[in-house]
Amino acid sequence: MIVSLRTRLFLAVVLPVTLVEILVLAFGQLRGDIIEGSLPLFVTAVGASWWFASREDRRMRRMADAALRMASGDFNIQLPDHRGDDVSRLAQSLNRLADASASTFHRLEAESRLVRSIIETMREGVMAVDQDGRITLVNDAMLRLTGHRGAAAGLSPAEVILAPELLQAIREVLEGNPVSREISVTRPLPATLLVNGAPLADGEGALAVVHDTTELHRLHQMRRDFVANVSHELRNPVATIQAAVETLASFTEETQAGDDERRLLATVSRQTARMAALVRDLLGLARIESGQLVLEPRTTDLGDLVPGIMAAFEAQARDKGLTLDLTVDSDTPPGLCDASALHTVIGNLLDNAVKYARPGDRISVHARLDGPARVAIEVSDTGPGIAEEHLPRLFERFYRVDAGRSRELGGTGLGLAIVKHLCAAMGGTVSVKSAVGTGTTFTVQLPADPEPPHN
Ligand code: ADP
Repeated sequence: MIVSLRTRLFLAVVLPVTLVEILVLAFGQLRGDIIEGSLPLFVTAVGASWWFASREDRRMRRMADAALRMASGDFNIQLPDHRGDDVSRLAQSLNRLADASASTFHRLEAESRLVRSIIETMREGVMAVDQDGRITLVNDAMLRLTGHRGAAAGLSPAEVILAPELLQAIREVLEGNPVSREISVTRPLPATLLVNGAPLADGEGALAVVHDTTELHRLHQMRRDFVANVSHELRNPVATIQAAVETLASFTEETQAGDDERRLLATVSRQTARMAALVRDLLGLARIESGQLVLEPRTTDLGDLVPGIMAAFEAQARDKGLTLDLTVDSDTPPGLCDASALHTVIGNLLDNAVKYARPGDRISVHARLDGPARVAIEVSDTGPGIAEEHLPRLFERFYRVDAGRSRELGGTGLGLAIVKHLCAAMGGTVSVKSAVGTGTTFTVQLPADPEPPHN
């Protein structure tokens, strides 16, 4: 049988209605009985389900509220969790999460307060800047150094820092370059500042720590002036005593003085010579440090200069049974150095080598090219050597491996400090290598003359 589309649509709409009506008629009687008997049950069930559903709904809403409060930083949460169902277990988890979050939050807060108060009590200025170049943290010390008044967080360093030199250093750090240097500023007050700065990890900006070293410099200057003045004042009396002792010594020769007088005079003479050497070295060091010593770097042929310096030690070396030799490599360029300063440097190193060497030891001086633009002069000996632990402090003033032996040999403890300062003043360096029982090598590196005059 072929049924048209219209007929099918009609049947689809009408048939269910008809079916319901037939069913209603058939069960009409039954329905009346059922409704009558089960209405109270039905109402109770609907009421109970409504109450149950709204209670569960309220519990879930409380939990959602609790989660929202935790998200906004309120961890004071205690959800009822004693029913033993799934919702209670969820409540227990939320309660535990709130407790754990609260203790982590308080710990972090305490740590952050501690860091903040450490930064605030620091005498150094501290400034942190984010990747957008905005200040995120700055302490009072930094604000004092910059001369800025009022809040600085959120501003750019340029809006806070008056001194262009300090601003430049901070900008370099922000560009990703670690900075560690001393700068002189005139604003807001004349000062010397040591700036240490480095970019923060993960490109989160940069941190700069600034230390005001003005007072430290003033104290150093005071110490230098004091030493220079004392040495200067002592120089003449010591020279006079030395001359008087020499005259007395010649008298004792003539007057055939007794052994005791001679011994006493020899002691006075030795100690006066020590004092004169000390005053000379202290004054020399003070003059280098204060910048009073004006060096005149000139083209210096080491092959010409060094033999003259060594000549002064030949007799002493011979008397002690030492051999002294010099090698100047043929490709050694002329150095660019102050001849008098170089004379003192090599003289002090040779003096030590001769002083501390044992009979039979060998002292060698070797001048050579050192890289493209430097010359090196090595002063080596096969003497007693120096234990490794002394090497880092060897160039400090008055540092001596064996103070008694140094004094006995007429040392002042200042020779190597003078060497170091003079090398630095000539734009060079000095270093040492040594092994106990094998010997010591001091290497002086100096700038080579880039354009030596042609003959
Ligand atoms: P000093 O006047 O005591 O020689 P220096 O400053 O010249 O003072 O040297 C410091 C110390 O280094 C010396 O006291 C000595 O212990 C040690 N020293 C220097 N040169 C040598 C060397 N060539 N061999 C062994 N020890 C040395």
